[in-house]
Amino acid sequence: MLYPGAGSDCRLAHDSMTTYHIPVYQPDLSGNEKRYVLECLDSTWISSKGRFISEFEGRFAEFAGVTYAVGVCNGTVALHLALVTLGIGPGDEVIVPSLTYIAAANAIAYTGATPVFVDSLPDTWQMDPADVRRKVTPRTKGIMAVHLYGHPCDMDALSAIASEHDVFLIEDCAEAFGSRYKGRHVGSFGDIAAFSFFGNKTITTGEGGMVVTNDKTLFERARHFKGQGLAAHREYWHDVIGYNYRLTNICAAIGLAQLERADEFIAKKRQLAKIYREQLADLPVEVHGEFGEVTHSYWMISILVKKAAERDPLRAHLAKSGIETRPLFYPAHTMPMYAARYQRHPHAEDIAWRGINLPSWPGLTLKQVKDIVSAIHDFFSQAGKTA
Ligand SMILES: *Cc1c(COP(=O)(O)O)cnc(C)c1O
Repeated sequence: MLYPGAGSDCRLAHDSMTTYHIPVYQPDLSGNEKRYVLECLDSTWISSKGRFISEFEGRFAEFAGVTYAVGVCNGTVALHLALVTLGIGPGDEVIVPSLTYIAAANAIAYTGATPVFVDSLPDTWQMDPADVRRKVTPRTKGIMAVHLYGHPCDMDALSAIASEHDVFLIEDCAEAFGSRYKGRHVGSFGDIAAFSFFGNKTITTGEGGMVVTNDKTLFERARHFKGQGLAAHREYWHDVIGYNYRLTNICAAIGLAQLERADEFIAKKRQLAKIYREQLADLPVEVHGEFGEVTHSYWMISILVKKAAERDPLRAHLAKSGIETRPLFYPAHTMPMYAARYQRHPHAEDIAWRGINLPSWPGLTLKQVKDIVSAIHDFFSQAGKTA
């Protein structure tokens, strides 16, 4: 491992060397997933053609309240495709929060554009619109709003800045399936948005992603770039350098089955967050909550300890009890490839060093939550005795 935490977002419990009784995440595949996948195998439609792809795209668009959806093979390429679709490239700048999963910044870098980092708000943990405003330059081509851990960004403020400066607004909704801002699902506020269906996301296809938009031209461009830039009216004729970012019918089959249970998953995660909040209320930890007129989908239910120095001992204590947790993401501006320029983003750093993601999967039982909560209580009562 090169630096601490590298790759921690993308590791499911069964890949890890430690055995945890309670993993931080685990997909629930107990609906129609197996039946639909068997249908792919029996019919031999296992590649990127088949009925599940268009059905998944259609149902997904409906769920997210958008007009168009394009299925792709993961969330990182969904972001890259969104940026390419907007024509973002070398010489451009895209404003992005430093406190995010690394794929958001990397997708910008893949296009040859420069990610310009902004700080986070201390309450919502989302990108600070005032800092966005300060970072706009004549080279700014877009603002990438990442709805981190499932709490929506301040979309009124970000939309206003984007239209004032005539720049694109891109939404990274990888962690925000089921999240709403003023009653509307995220992903429809900007010009274009990306979702991820990695194994630990709120709905999963194993690996998969979606690009969504309400703009027909952007939809057609995204579909064009996704499928090798194939021209519409001539076979094997390509008029742009495209990509193979296609989703398979098998993944779409799993996705469709997951979508059927989306409301159930989201309700369960919100209930878990409520229980954690109630049962940790008497401890010196802060459970990430909802601020403003939003619905937090709690992709990862997260807490902040008071002092950064308590964070890793608490995680170690939980690990000893067989409970897997995660540190929050390291701010991107602290990583070697983005740290060349001296930058400080004090809120992003403070939140990152004090934050922990707790087990957040919908199948978690009340008994398991009780065990997690009592292990946290145990940590603080021991700390009280030794202090
Ligand atoms: C998971 C995630 C991605 C990338 O999705 P993959 O499907 O893992 O490629 C991008 N952005 C954020 C904020 C994520 O959490």
